[in-house]
Amino acid sequence: MKEKNSIYKYLTTKEVKKIKEFVKGKETPFLIVNPKKVEENYDNLHSLMPFAKIYYAVKANPMDEIVKLLEKKGSNFDVASIYEIDQCLRLGIPPERLSYGNPIKKVEHIAYAYKKGIRLYATDSWEDVQEIAKHAPGSKVLFRIILEGGNADWPLSRKFGAHPDMIYQLILKASKMNIIPYGLSFHVGSQQRDIGSWDNAISFCKYLFDALKQHKIKLKAINLGGGFPTRYVHSTHPLETYTKYVTRFLQEDFPTDFPEILIEPGRSMVGNCGVMVTQIVMISRKSSLDRNKWVYLDAGKFNGLIETIDESIKYPIFWEKAKKTDRNTEKVILAGPTCDSMDIMYEKYQYKFPKGMKEGDKMFILSTGAYTLSYCSVYFNGFPPMKAYILK
Ligand SMILES: *Cc1c(COP(=O)(O)O)cnc(C)c1O
Repeated sequence: MKEKNSIYKYLTTKEVKKIKEFVKGKETPFLIVNPKKVEENYDNLHSLMPFAKIYYAVKANPMDEIVKLLEKKGSNFDVASIYEIDQCLRLGIPPERLSYGNPIKKVEHIAYAYKKGIRLYATDSWEDVQEIAKHAPGSKVLFRIILEGGNADWPLSRKFGAHPDMIYQLILKASKMNIIPYGLSFHVGSQQRDIGSWDNAISFCKYLFDALKQHKIKLKAINLGGGFPTRYVHSTHPLETYTKYVTRFLQEDFPTDFPEILIEPGRSMVGNCGVMVTQIVMISRKSSLDRNKWVYLDAGKFNGLIETIDESIKYPIFWEKAKKTDRNTEKVILAGPTCDSMDIMYEKYQYKFPKGMKEGDKMFILSTGAYTLSYCSVYFNGFPPMKAYILK
C-alpha cells in the first residue's frame, strides 16, 4: 500500500532513488527534467487524439533538449515571440512547424516572423489583423475567442481573445484582405480541471463556423489551445477522460465536416517531468507564542515558483528524509529566500511534514517541469536563475 501523502504517490521507487543519487553534491536550487516522461506524455496525447496536430507551447519549458526531443517526435510548436522563433529555427525546426500564437505582437516582430517563413498567426483584434495583412500577407490566421476560464487554477483568458460577435465581424473584414481566415482558437485557462469548459468553447466555434458559412466563408481549423491539467496536490481526471470528452464534444458539434484540429499543450506535456530540488535555509518562529513554524527554502516566487501567486498552483512537496511510516506531522508556512515580503509560497494552505526537518535538509518540489525555469527572475537580490539538468 502506498502512503497517502508520500513522494511514492507521484514517483516510482526507482525514480526517487535515481533523483536522490543525482542530487548528491549539487548546489541547490535546481530543476531536474526527465526527458523520458516528456516522450511518454507526447506519445500518450498523440495516441488519445490522433486527429490533432500537436503544437507544444514552448514557453512552458523552453529547454533546448525538450524542444529538440519533441521535434524528433514530430511535434509542431506554438511560439510566443520572435525569440522563441529564433530558438526553434536555431534548433533546425522548419518555420512551417511554428505557429505564432501570441495575439500581442509588435509590428516589427510580425515582419520578422514573416521574413523567417512563419505563415500561421493567431489574433484577437482589428489592430493586429491589419498589421498581419500588411506585414505577413497571405498567411493563415486563427481568431481567438475569449472565454471566462474562471475556474482554471491558472486562468489566462481575460487578457486574450475577443467576444464571438467581434470575432465574427473581424473575420468578415479579414476575408476581404490579403490573409486567410483559417479558423478559430481558444484557451480554456491553464490547469483547467473542469471538462465543461471545452464543451462551452467548442459550441462557440460551431456557432461561428455556421454563421460564417452564410457568408461563404469556410473556416477550416480549430485550435484547442492548452489547458489540460498535470498532477499537483489537487486531483484531476486522467488525461484520457479529458481527451475522450473533448473528442465527443467535437464530434457532436461537427458530425459531418470535422475540422482540422490543433492542440497546444504546455503544462500537460512537461509539468510532471520536473523535480525542483531546494534546501531549507532556515526554520523559525515569529514570537515565542507563534504557533506557526516558518520554513524558508532557497527557492521561492522569484526563482521558479511564481505560480504560487495567490497559492494558485499547489505543488506536491516532500522532505528528503520523509519515510513512508512517518506519523507525527506538523503544519508549516513555506517561504522563499529573497527580501521581498511577497516571497511567501504557502501560508493559507499549510503543508504538513513529518517532524524533524532541519536547516540544510533538501526538499523535493514535484511536478515543476512547467512554468518554473522560464519564469525565474534574473538576479533579483543577486540570486541567479535556477539551474536545470536533464536526467540521463
Ligand atoms: C500558454 C499557452 C498554451 C499552453 O497552455 P497550457 O495550459 O500550459 O497547456 C497554449 N496556447 C497558448 C496560446 C498559450 O498562450
